[in-house]
This record gives sequence, structure tokens and C-alpha cells, in this order.
Amino acid sequence: MPPVRVALAGSTGSIGTQSLDVLAAEPGSFELVAIGATGRNPDVVIEQARTHRPAIVAISDPAAAAPIIDALPGFEVRVGPEAMASLAADADVVVNGVVGFAGLSVTLATLEAGRRLALANKESLIAAGPVVQRARRTPGAELVPVDSEHGAIHQCLRATDNRSRVARLVLTASGGPFRGRSAADLARVTVAEALAHPTWSMGPKITVDSSTLMNKGLEVIEAHELFGTPAGDAGYGIGFDEIDVVVHPQSIVHSMVEFTDASTIAQLSIPDMRLPIGYALAWPDRITTPFGRIDWSQLGRLDFEAPDHATFPCLGLAYEAGRIGGTAPAWLNAANEVAVDAFLGGRIAWGDISRVIAATLEHHDGAPATDANAIIAADAEARRLAAEILVQFTPPVGAPA
Ligand code: MG
Repeated sequence: MPPVRVALAGSTGSIGTQSLDVLAAEPGSFELVAIGATGRNPDVVIEQARTHRPAIVAISDPAAAAPIIDALPGFEVRVGPEAMASLAADADVVVNGVVGFAGLSVTLATLEAGRRLALANKESLIAAGPVVQRARRTPGAELVPVDSEHGAIHQCLRATDNRSRVARLVLTASGGPFRGRSAADLARVTVAEALAHPTWSMGPKITVDSSTLMNKGLEVIEAHELFGTPAGDAGYGIGFDEIDVVVHPQSIVHSMVEFTDASTIAQLSIPDMRLPIGYALAWPDRITTPFGRIDWSQLGRLDFEAPDHATFPCLGLAYEAGRIGGTAPAWLNAANEVAVDAFLGGRIAWGDISRVIAATLEHHDGAPATDANAIIAADAEARRLAAEILVQFTPPVGAPA
């Protein structure tokens, strides 16, 4: 078999660099044909291109491109906002590791080109659910999640041939760095504390999302989009009432599927994103390099508990937006991105993240998610409102002025 041609969008981020690890470990199976990045870490992109030798380098920020073009003679450097989305034409699989809503164009272009999308950018699926569902129906298009929980569910679902025998999806959550603390206790937490994740090594945005449980809330919507809706062959007819979240601090069980006979199938491994990345790259086969192998003699105990909705209201806000559907998840996602950015910049306190999102969602206009332009407009409107709302909150004590 010829090697699978892989394009990597968001190559300098956490998913991108871990994907390069997987590709380097499996040289006979995959060929890296392209990498894409904003260009705001020029030294990293240049180093990646020189080390891994993709033919094509895509840079989305034109202002950042000149020094990268100069440093990479002999490479095809594509520049501009559509450069990363253009990579789908040259690859069998596109890994979308772009951070945030900016990943939408890569998601849609890959599916519309009839290619396999290894999706780490959950925001595009959450914000643009109905539009992505249409693109998924393109002949040849496949969507394999890279998110560890959804990769786990994808594996567990292989235990049945009858889609109507799936009763419940159970997403596990590590609980983040603030598990077991009260809202009052969390009023004064710092950015550094929110970024100290106990089990997973990830970028700053998703690590803050993990501390608020918004990451799990977004993943509930992601699970509903991936497995719930009756979209052609993709759906299992699972509604929000059949998607549960359980806190599991060790992050060994990555998620579970309960079947109609009460049998539950789980996927277990030591937390290592290279496993779900390798799974999405190789599916329906598997890679041969073990990442996150369990040593059962060292594992010890596995604990499970219910999530604390009062301390972590973001989880409930996500269920609410998911149930409303349409552009509500786009609003949730946009308000969250604005609020997290403000928290990381010292402009609002950790506890205000959920307040900004709740206040923004109160203004949701109920617009339908008809096409990509409607999603982009909804995203822009929610960002504008969230930015307006967050100035009403006072910066936390000790934050830089
Ligand atoms: Mg996850």
C-alpha cells in the first residue's frame, strides 16, 4: 500500500507537534505532504519544514509570510486566509489542529473535497454543526475525531453492528485543576493555576476550557454532532438526554458507550494525545507504535464522580445551547473564546467566564444555521456582544492594568 498522504493544519500547536511525532514514528505508513500555520511562530514553521520536508507550507497570515518564504527556498509556500483550507486537494487525510473558530474553513474544505478529516478543531463542528453535517455527506468525505473522548467513543461504537442498540454515550472529564473546589474558593484563582492541568498537556485555550468544564460542555455538543444526529450513515440517534458526563480524575478511561442490554464498553490508555491522533490517521487500521500503553501493575485505582454543576456552570450552559441548536452553539463558542481570551489577558476573573457567556446567550436572536455565512455572522455578532458585556466586569485583583 502506498503511504497515506497527510496534511497538517495548525502544525505549530499542541496537536500539530504531537501529530509530527506520530508521523515520525510511522515512516512507512504516512507521507507528510503539507503543513499549515498562521506564521506567527515563524521559527517553528521553518524548523518543521526543514526537518519533516513537506512539499507545501501554508501560511494564513500574509503579514507573517515574507521571512518564511525567504527561509524556505524549494518549498511551495501558499499565503493567505484560504491557504490552509487549500491543502485538502493535495492529501488523503487532513489533520485539523487549528485553534478555535478559525478552523472552520479547513473543516469544510476537507469534507467538501471528499477527503478524510482528522478533527481536533472541535469548535468548527460545534459552531457550524448543520453546515458541517451537509459537508459530511460529500462522497468520500470521512470525519474521524481526534479529541480523546470522541476517539474513544468512535472505538467503542465498533462493538455493535446495529446502530439502534446504542443507549448512551458517557464522556469522561478529568475535572481539571479545580475539581473538588467551591465557587467561593475559586473567586481568586490566577491564570497560572488555571493553566496547570493535572493529566493532559494541551494549549492554553483548551486548558482554561478544561478548568471551567466548558471543554466538556463543548464535547457534549461535539458528541451530539458526531454520533447523535441521524445524518446519513453517521448518526446513532442519540439526543442530549442520552449523553452523560462523569468526572474521572485519572483520565485513563477516555469515554464509554452503553448499549441497550446495559453492557458498557470503554476505551482505556494513559493520557497521550498521540494515541487518538494515530487512530484518526490510520483508521480503519491502527498504527503499530504504542502511545499511552498501560502498565497494570502501576495503574492503581480508577475513580468516578458526578460533575459539580453549581461550581462549573459552563457545562450546563453548553447543554442549553446544544438543545436550542441552530446558531446557539456558535454563540456559546464565540462568547467562550472572547471570555477565555479576556481571562488570559487579566481583564476578567475566572468566575466571570461563565457569567459573560450566560449574559451573551441571553441575547441570542434564534437565527438558523443555514450556511457558512450565517455561522460567520452569528460568530461575529456573539463576539461583539461578549466584548461589550465583559467590560462591565472588573479585572481581578493583582492583574496587570
Ligand atoms: Mg477532549
